[in-house]
Amino acid sequence: MKKRELIVIGAGAAGMMAAVAAARNGVSVLLLEKMEKSGRKIRITGKGRCNITNTKDWNEFSTHIHPNANFFKHSFFSFSNKDTINFFESIGLKCSVERGDRVYPESGVATDVVDRLIDHIKSLGIEIKFNSVVRDIVQEKGQIEGVIYENGGKIYKEDAEAVIVATGGLSYPSTGSDGDGYKFAVNLGLSVKDCHPSLTALTPDFDFIPLKWLILKNVGLSLFVGKDVVQQEMGELEFTDNGLEGSIGYKVSRRAVKALINGEKVSVAIDLKPAVDKQTLSSRLLKDMETDKSMRKLLRHYMPEQLVETFIAVLPKRFASVTVADVGPANEIATFMKEWRMAIKGYTSYERAVITAGGVSMDEIISKKMVSRKFPNLFFAGEVVDLDGDTGGYNLQIAFSTGYTAGREAAYLIRKLKESMSE
Ligand SMILES: Cc1cc2nc3c(=O)[nH]c(=O)nc-3n(C[C@H](O)[C@H](O)[C@H](O)COP(=O)(O)OP(=O)(O)OC[C@H]3O[C@@H](n4cnc5c(N)ncnc54)[C@H](O)[C@@H]3O)c2cc1C
Repeated sequence: MKKRELIVIGAGAAGMMAAVAAARNGVSVLLLEKMEKSGRKIRITGKGRCNITNTKDWNEFSTHIHPNANFFKHSFFSFSNKDTINFFESIGLKCSVERGDRVYPESGVATDVVDRLIDHIKSLGIEIKFNSVVRDIVQEKGQIEGVIYENGGKIYKEDAEAVIVATGGLSYPSTGSDGDGYKFAVNLGLSVKDCHPSLTALTPDFDFIPLKWLILKNVGLSLFVGKDVVQQEMGELEFTDNGLEGSIGYKVSRRAVKALINGEKVSVAIDLKPAVDKQTLSSRLLKDMETDKSMRKLLRHYMPEQLVETFIAVLPKRFASVTVADVGPANEIATFMKEWRMAIKGYTSYERAVITAGGVSMDEIISKKMVSRKFPNLFFAGEVVDLDGDTGGYNLQIAFSTGYTAGREAAYLIRKLKESMSE
């Protein structure tokens, strides 16, 4: 059977971009996707709006990349956030920049991103086979030979000059990403860093259901592991049916989940009034207590109505009604508002975690080319790699940048091979 030039496994954000970069560099590509259509995850990103990237410059952008932004630097500068915007605009997707430097399609529709990508992929002559589940990557004497895949109950083998693994992580397995790429890596003798859900809900140990869908804007959040504060964030926190989410809930979830997995005690403290110090808050409370004798009435000046009953339940019973405008209670209430502490008893797993932290070890990959150190014709791109970002468009940029780099480098390698054979 004729040997393919390049096989890309996975038609998600990283795989599609890798296929585009390779095809634009003159290489023929077979894209194998296990689902019945491509980019199923992209279609649900950004609450259906797809936060494509973020316009922050590298110095700031890099602070949102984990666990090692330096590894990502080469890919970022090969295909940056600006390149992502230019690329999408060039294929007919107008983009707009919103709050927090987040970039969305102007239409506000995530499926438009996939549709434009697919149109472009077709225009480049890339072959896509859907419902094609890659089962294994075949190697012989340190070279990748090709892949074995299943389609419609039949098993096929395709040989290729190079293979790119862009199979995603473990989160939202219903979109097709359920960890196959890690299995391929392990079977090839490559190391994979322990994976865990990230950008996921943390479950507090009190009845948070009455607070469902409450959004607290501009609050502070401190993450404690044991007695130590290990992370502090400011921004938006949301209570959902799963617990604490929102941008700062997600931000601390990476460390919190890891600590919980390690069996450590995890708690958070919410600062409802980060803009004022405790002394000033206490003085304001004292003044208001002169007129508002009921705790409910008093608290309504300081927090959303939905939070009042829960907050009263958190306070010691003696504060149920305020009868005396006394410095003591005012100080204590101010303390609770500035440091509302809650233990975290668990987290939401992969079924609803936005991303997977961990993955194919960076030690296994040459970051300039996203190529395996062990197999010179095997490349990795996207969430399958031990790289992840905060919310804000960083994860898709990781997928696009590493996908582009892997695709371009695979194409260079294949062209070099062809040239050497024709000499
Ligand atoms: C609900 C949600 C919202 C999000 N919102 C945003 C956002 O707004 N902005 C942002 O930057 N990030 C967001 N993310 C994260 C972002 O979507 C991912 O990090 C990104 O899509 C990863 O791209 P990927 O190509 O590496 O993996 P995926 O998108 O998961 O694609 C992997 C592909 O590989 C295929 N595949 C897997 N195994 C095989 C196999 N054996 N054979 C063939 N095919 C296979 C899968 O079917 C899938 O199509 C969100 C994630 C979720 C879950």
